[in-house]
Amino acid sequence: MSLPIESREELIQTAIKAKSYAYAPYSKFRVGAALLCADGTVIKGCNVENASYGGAICAERTAIVKAVSEGKKDFIAIAVTTDVPATLSPCGICRQVLREFCHLDTPVLLVPADYPQEGAGEEGGVRVETVGGLLPLSFGPEDLEQPRLPADLGK
Ligand SMILES: [Zn+2]
Repeated sequence: MSLPIESREELIQTAIKAKSYAYAPYSKFRVGAALLCADGTVIKGCNVENASYGGAICAERTAIVKAVSEGKKDFIAIAVTTDVPATLSPCGICRQVLREFCHLDTPVLLVPADYPQEGAGEEGGVRVETVGGLLPLSFGPEDLEQPRLPADLGK
C-alpha cells in the first residue's frame, strides 16, 4: 500500500517533531514516531525513559498507546526516526505491539536523521518496510482463535 505524497511528508515531519519531545536522559538516544490513523489524524510518540530503567517506553508504543486510549485502533502507516543518519527499525517489543493493531502490509517508514538525504532522490533516504516484513511468522490476535486440543492432552 502506498501513501499519498502529502500524507507521507506529514508523517515524516511529525515523527521528526515528536523526536524533539523525547525524554531520553539515560540512553541519550532520541526516537520519534508518527502514527497515521484511519480517520486522518496523526498521533505523535517519543521514547520516555525512567530512572527505573524498566519503566521506559519506546516512541512507537507511545504512539500506539496514545491512539488506542483515544479510541483509535485503525492505522494506515507509521513513521519512525532517530538521531542516526541511517534507517533504524523498531525493537522487537514494538514490532509485536504494531502487529497487534496493524495489518501485515501496513507501511513502516524508517526515516534517517538527515532526511531528506542529498542524492537519495524522491524517497529522501526513507526505507519503507511493512509490519509483516519486520515480524515474519508472527503470532497475532487471530491465532488465539484457532481450534485447540483440550489442555490435558498436552501433559
Ligand atoms: Zn521499541
